[in-house]
Amino acid sequence: MSTGPNEQAFQNVRKLISDVCQQMNIAEMCRVRLMECERELTIHFPIKMDDGEVRVFTGFRVVHNDSRGPSKGGIRYHPDVNLDEVRALAALMTLKTAVAGVPYGGAKGAVICDPRTLSQTELERLTRRYASDIAIIMGPDSDIPAPDVGTNPQIMAWIMDTYSMGRGYSVPAVVTGKPLEIGGSNGRFEATGRGCMVSALLAAKHLGLNPLEATVVVQGCGNVGATGADLLAREGCRVMAISDSRGGVYNPKGIDLEGLFARKRETGSVIGFRNAETLTNAELLELKCDILVVAALEHALVKANAPSVKARIIVEGANGPTTPDANKILCDNGIFIVPDILANAGGVIVSYLEWVQGLQSFYWGEEEVNNYLRRLMTSAFTEVLHLSQLNKVDMRTAAYMTALRQLAAAMTIRGVFP
Ligand code: GLU
Repeated sequence: MSTGPNEQAFQNVRKLISDVCQQMNIAEMCRVRLMECERELTIHFPIKMDDGEVRVFTGFRVVHNDSRGPSKGGIRYHPDVNLDEVRALAALMTLKTAVAGVPYGGAKGAVICDPRTLSQTELERLTRRYASDIAIIMGPDSDIPAPDVGTNPQIMAWIMDTYSMGRGYSVPAVVTGKPLEIGGSNGRFEATGRGCMVSALLAAKHLGLNPLEATVVVQGCGNVGATGADLLAREGCRVMAISDSRGGVYNPKGIDLEGLFARKRETGSVIGFRNAETLTNAELLELKCDILVVAALEHALVKANAPSVKARIIVEGANGPTTPDANKILCDNGIFIVPDILANAGGVIVSYLEWVQGLQSFYWGEEEVNNYLRRLMTSAFTEVLHLSQLNKVDMRTAAYMTALRQLAAAMTIRGVFP
């Protein structure tokens, strides 16, 4: 659901970085560096389709900043993705890894395609060619991809295999979000949704809300939305509504999630699920609830619908779901927003754990991984909340403050080459 002005996406992130740098008196040499992406690769590559026709696809890999370590960020397969959006998402990764306290920079990749219309063999050829073309940037010590919208563990496996073939030996640490069988981490698949659950409950606690009485609405039924909904329900919250790209279902008494996920697997959509009313995504976002998890795409909350949002807490499972105009309206209305670079950092936190496990060839159990994730999410949330209260700013500004402080320190200590 790319409803918003995507050409604005990078400019929006840039403006907030710039404003917060100036507010914090961060050195100009750091601010100007963060205004641009360090590296941008655009590729147009041919793929032989199953019917023999050759089609040319366009892909990107953008590194925004690598001052704090190798660049890290997912790969998106989507028909509407463009370079500006990838730049914005790469910059958000730079901020996210800094807020989360993992030693990475930020990057993002994408291929303009609709993976749902490609066969498995076409998807594999496209992925391998893309991986081969971005190998001049990608590497276990330089730039490490992961899944994002439209990609999955199987695609990461093809990337790992393609890169390894080029080296002549297996390099599991070149990519994260891999299947367990080839060096993936326990808990990685659920990590982003788990991080959303942890941050939602921390926000609820901060506002004095009892999870056992909290009502939840979730936009998005992909990996993040479905896992987030499931884990919040397991914590005792009542998930009243959930949607996918085609629309949502609503039952004020609570949705039977297990049945719903089974239906989604069988029919490809949540629509028409028994014991629930059908509603549009627009209606879903305006439902009265305690916790609204936005886990679909960018620009779900815009100037037009923000005044109608009746949630107490918004948890940004997606990257960039709220436009700056909408953010202001929501904050003015007293809604507590857990911003994307904090709320969805669980994914990259466990990516870091997967990378470390791959580098040392020593693997951990799920409980260990989940505990580590909870610890890092809690300490990031606590730090951001503290800065927000101290400086009387919203949580997004405070998260940018936390990140930019780390980034400025790293850039200053390293200095400018040559
Ligand atoms: N695509 C995810 C994100 O936006 C994960 C990135 C990663 O693990 O590198 O945070």
